[in-house]
Amino acid sequence: MTYVERVLDDLKKRNPGEKEFHQAATEILLTLEPVINAHPEYEKAALLERFTEPERTVLFRVPWVDDNGVVRVNKGYRVQFNSAIGPYKGGLRFHPSVNLSVIKFLGLEQILKNSLTGLPIGGGKGGSDFDPKGKSDREIMAFCQSFMTELYRHIGADTDVPAGDIGVGAREVGYLFGQYKRIRNEHVGVLTGRGLSYGGSLMRKEATGYGLIYMTAEAMKQRGDSFKGKTTIVSGSGNVAIYACEKAQQLGAKVVAMYDSNGYIYDPNGIQIDVIKQIKEVERARIKEYANRVAGATYTEGCKGIWTIPCDVALPCATQNEIDEESAKALIANGVQYVGEGANMPSTLEAISAFQKANVVFLPAKAANAGGVATSALEMAQSSGRLYWSSEEVDAKLKTIMINIYYNIDAAAKKYGYEGNYVMGANIAGFEKVAEAMMAHGIV
Ligand code: NDP
Repeated sequence: MTYVERVLDDLKKRNPGEKEFHQAATEILLTLEPVINAHPEYEKAALLERFTEPERTVLFRVPWVDDNGVVRVNKGYRVQFNSAIGPYKGGLRFHPSVNLSVIKFLGLEQILKNSLTGLPIGGGKGGSDFDPKGKSDREIMAFCQSFMTELYRHIGADTDVPAGDIGVGAREVGYLFGQYKRIRNEHVGVLTGRGLSYGGSLMRKEATGYGLIYMTAEAMKQRGDSFKGKTTIVSGSGNVAIYACEKAQQLGAKVVAMYDSNGYIYDPNGIQIDVIKQIKEVERARIKEYANRVAGATYTEGCKGIWTIPCDVALPCATQNEIDEESAKALIANGVQYVGEGANMPSTLEAISAFQKANVVFLPAKAANAGGVATSALEMAQSSGRLYWSSEEVDAKLKTIMINIYYNIDAAAKKYGYEGNYVMGANIAGFEKVAEAMMAHGIV
């Protein structure tokens, strides 16, 4: 058994039942073999054992009162995974599917993603099994205040800087920040994704989706290709999906399908993103409304069918494991050329392998969706410098960062003889920097 296999085996035994965490660790560690082989000192320092064990895990109770006066209790999580290269940084997810395994998979991915941005941020992730869907604003506020009443003691502008993720957008970040400020009596950059009136950065909302498209467009450009005329599917209809769709369309793509967790819409004339924004951002309604409002569009209950629609580009931007092997094979059979992951771990291990075997250009999440956290780090820089950058400045920096990440992962894959394998390239490029910092810090 190799060192990597032994660590993986041990990790599965010591973290039983954490299937998403096992999946992410397997995907990452198996691709690190070439780096590990080149550095025998890592094994002596138990580097991988330390890399896969969070520095700190905080689990807490979140009690709150609903609009009927009923006391509710949710679980709260913050996994401070790795601070070798900077303060912990990573989003908060509010969704009923959240458990420790999900938060740990996201946290592990986040370490490498944050490293890839080239900015000084470590990896962390948190959240709750609270479901914001269908809750009143007052209920959301009560929950966020209770959540922060415990979280505040574990975070700080130089310690751990959370942000949004699924179910946590501008509204939730506002309530969380308000409560932090009230308890701590300090107005600092302790959360990113803040509103523009209280220290947020322009372009943060657009950053993950736009960043995904900047990287995918660069991969196309390197191949003498572009988004022009490409039939594209963007799954999800949340923050990442909406701005991925918007930027892809600006570059000439025809986005024909999107979904929410109930079903998908198909619009052969190209999705009207303003209608989606109105339904999702303003009304917080279901996507099936789109088919009632736009002539020629159809709605189908259930999500999986979206991947059977023929397309050139697939951009999964909703959640983990939304593309399984069967869906990947359907996409390949229909001629997909590019897959860019906007969501975290949206493709199963089998799906990734199918894409790679079919020579589909596959851009993995930790590189392709790093634009969000990169812009969060730019928000941190603006907060600590009391600076304010224009949209154009932030957008230009975001674009440069995404293009740099693309060429870094491309170079890392080539360096170890795996040209075009961006899963390996991203894991290796992200890991090298973290490993070097961890070795420099001694056994901690
Ligand atoms: P949002 O909550 O804004 O949107 C999530 C979207 O995905 C919604 O349309 C939601 O539908 C859909 N969705 C959620 N769960 C499922 C499911 N099980 N099946 C089908 N659809 C589902 O989240 P974000 O856009 O912020 O995040 C999307 C993904 O991108 C996540 O994987 C997140 O970790 C990742 N990401 C986000 C970043 C950011 O800056 N926001 C940064 C980097 C990664 P419904 O409304 O019905 O629940």
